[in-house]
Amino acid sequence: MTAFEEELHAVEKKVSAQLSDGRFQHCLRVSDYARKLAQENGVDENQAALAGLVHDYAKERPAEDFLAAIDRFHLDPDLKNWSRAIWHGVVGAEMIQDELGIDDPAILDAVRLHTTGDGVEMPTLAKIVFMADYLETGRDFPGVKEAREITDKSLDRGVFYQLQHTLSFLAENGNVIYPKTFTSYNDWARRFAE
Ligand code: GDP
Ligand code: FE
Ligand code: FE
Repeated sequence: MTAFEEELHAVEKKVSAQLSDGRFQHCLRVSDYARKLAQENGVDENQAALAGLVHDYAKERPAEDFLAAIDRFHLDPDLKNWSRAIWHGVVGAEMIQDELGIDDPAILDAVRLHTTGDGVEMPTLAKIVFMADYLETGRDFPGVKEAREITDKSLDRGVFYQLQHTLSFLAENGNVIYPKTFTSYNDWARRFAE
């Protein structure tokens, strides 16, 4: 085994200890899909596989853990007004660095941005994890095939497709929408406006 494969196996054990089997399997599929998108987009596939593996590491933590971490890592106190859907990326990145010892800033940023996306300056690795989370082979929503095809042709078009559909979905269901979800959408809508 290469040194990287050993690291990946060690991290897999730690991720699986934090998650239900279903969510752990999702992380493995995101890791695989991120590797594929990395190959297609000239990004280090090992870095993408590791980022995909850990992206939901914190998803099942109790709210108290997130609230304590917001203080401990001096994150924006406004985060306390949100919920696990938002915390597990932005606060989760700090937990991943602290508890898994992953220090690669590109991986930590990709985890931070994986739920809301970011503006058009979003790093390529973050786009890859964002799309792999949406498109992994276990996902089955109307349009997933089209979304995969669009993303294979253009990672950026895929990012916009996801932002557009997630925003519509959240609004249709009357969910509260995090401001960054809106600003990401606007940035990409402007970019692709005729
Ligand atoms: P998952 O962790 O693999 O389930 O995927 P994500 O991290 O992308 O998303 C977590 C959940 O947060 C999903 O149910 C999204 O629809 C939801 N979500 C994404 N953006 C927002 C937002 O702005 N507000 C709220 N309330 N939920 C959001
Ligand atoms: Fe997530
Ligand atoms: Fe996920």
